[in-house]
Amino acid sequence: MSNALKMTCLECGAVNRVPKDKLSAGPKCGTCGAKLNDGKVRQLDPATLVKAQRNDDTPLLVDFWAPWCGPCRMMAPAFEQAARAVAPHARFAKINTEDHPNASRKFGIRGIPALILFQNGKEIARQAGAVPAPAIEQFVRNKARF
Ligand SMILES: [Zn+2]
Repeated sequence: MSNALKMTCLECGAVNRVPKDKLSAGPKCGTCGAKLNDGKVRQLDPATLVKAQRNDDTPLLVDFWAPWCGPCRMMAPAFEQAARAVAPHARFAKINTEDHPNASRKFGIRGIPALILFQNGKEIARQAGAVPAPAIEQFVRNKARF
């Protein structure tokens, strides 16, 4: 099934298969009905992050952030803007490293905000520090394969 893309539902963690030509048709999770790639930034728990990171064929950009981090809060609107710009081809999510310090350790995060781009079950790029929306979008477009 070379033209079906694996995409983990970021709401319930179910792994969906979406035909490539249906990516722009507003695909929904077969388990919970949530939209899979509507351009909204979702907050992940570590279990869903690991599932998506291992399974997804489509690009997933994860923002490792924390509420106490000023630059993280400043970057949040830019991150949301860039997420809308690359939908439906890439998805953006966040993980709160204050609530989930194990996630930071697992991915070797030394400072936040930090962005990690995953695709096809592996990390393909990362970027440290707060950057404006066009730079986030460019980072994904340059590194990911759509
Ligand atoms: Zn779901």
